[in-house]
Amino acid sequence: ADEVALDPWGSSTIADYRKLFEEFGIEEFDEVLDEVPNPHYLMRRGVIFGHRDYRPVLEAMRDGDDFAVLSGFMPTGDPHIGHKLVFDEIIWHQQQGGDAYGLIADMEAHSARGIDWEEINEHSRDYLLSLIALGFDVEEGELYRQSDNDRLQRLAFELGGKANFSEFQSIYGFDGETNISHMQSVVTQMADILYPQLDEPQPTVIPVGPDQDPHVRFARDLTTRMRFFKVTEAFASFELDDTERLVVAAAYDAREEYAEDSDMPRCGEAADWVADADLDEHGVLVAESVRDSAVEKLENAGMEPLRRRIRFFARQATDEAFEALIEDVEGEKRRYDQHIDAFDLDVAEAEELAREVEANHGGYGFIPPSSIYHRFMTGLTGGKMSSSIPASHISLLDDPEDGYNKVKSATTGGRDTAEEQRELGGEADKCPVYELYAYLLTGDDDEFAKEVYDECVGGERLCGGCKEQAATLMREFLEDHQEKREEAKEVLDSLDIDLET
Ligand code: SF4
Repeated sequence: ADEVALDPWGSSTIADYRKLFEEFGIEEFDEVLDEVPNPHYLMRRGVIFGHRDYRPVLEAMRDGDDFAVLSGFMPTGDPHIGHKLVFDEIIWHQQQGGDAYGLIADMEAHSARGIDWEEINEHSRDYLLSLIALGFDVEEGELYRQSDNDRLQRLAFELGGKANFSEFQSIYGFDGETNISHMQSVVTQMADILYPQLDEPQPTVIPVGPDQDPHVRFARDLTTRMRFFKVTEAFASFELDDTERLVVAAAYDAREEYAEDSDMPRCGEAADWVADADLDEHGVLVAESVRDSAVEKLENAGMEPLRRRIRFFARQATDEAFEALIEDVEGEKRRYDQHIDAFDLDVAEAEELAREVEANHGGYGFIPPSSIYHRFMTGLTGGKMSSSIPASHISLLDDPEDGYNKVKSATTGGRDTAEEQRELGGEADKCPVYELYAYLLTGDDDEFAKEVYDECVGGERLCGGCKEQAATLMREFLEDHQEKREEAKEVLDSLDIDLET
């Protein structure tokens, strides 16, 4: 396809992943692979091929700091081996120490796809059972359904206050025919993405297919809007001295410029502003106008942590603003650092306090969410793997014998005759069966995956035997998975999730 369309509810196949890097600013995963401690095989094999701002998550992972992973599932059908990629990604991040969240996008299924509630409940249960069976630790992580989560809905409502219809039109192509519940499900999805940060801000990764990128971009944008809303409110109630006021106001201004278009950071511009402005005068002006225009509704005994929080943002803002111009404005930066240091500010302490404040005052200090993107699996019959074409995919609920048979009848990247195959080698890169090995059947065993590939392209492997081996492994996988699903039932039933029809 020439057109790269990112439509979360469409059925477009993304043929040219490279375009995503260019057109949407998704970065190549390869560039951060070396920084991943103990990378998952889906990362090592390039199945996870892109990311947006994944580094803060990696830093937290390496430093033993808090971070989170969240992804959602729309219960429109049976979970299949394509969904397993996302299950694996959530579970891996949980094993690396992340707070893990798996959610059921039941509101989206109902409003965007028109699935009835009875069916939604049934599929929801199946998704969750597979997620648990594959290793999701329910003691450590959280599973929820959108419609049943009050905190989520309150957050969605607040986020809705920061979004408007023309954005929905331009981002999702909504028009006069779009039903209102569908719009509500979008703000709910925004709330999902930020939900892991409700108690405390933390880097959060959303593993998704590239078609979900518009949601991630929109959530990142809303993050900054929510943050400044609260900061401004709090700012007005402080009794800052002149120097503090000046620095905070200037930093805040710089930060706001920076945030205006979060996808195309205008860091340079903000830094220009900071470098060029007559800071004393402007800083005082901004500070005073904010102070004068705001009521002192937040003024109470609990304000000290908030005050520190503003200082924390001030430092963050100046750091970001100066990043781009660090060479030119070395002197200016030092001047700022001195001001901020004069606050006698312990950043770690301030962060800690900021979290407390978030919890106590209902404020938001969201960190823009990160995302990683995985390739879509090719359908077993060629083309796209689709839930609506049973032969194209293997459901995690398929009878193991059916799974075996589907692999046996899959298309391959093999040549017309065995003779030709021995001579030219197979085309593993175009072969859905090879994908099964790489994405699932060889598990963590890179050598096994490489052996299949090398033997195939080297002409030593013929498709009949290769498929027999893959089909047998698939049957074993399904048998094992379904056994674990049985065991997961008790675990799921012990959780407080209403899945009754
Ligand atoms: Fe695909 Fe295996 Fe045939 Fe190679 S030998 S083309 S991997 S089925």
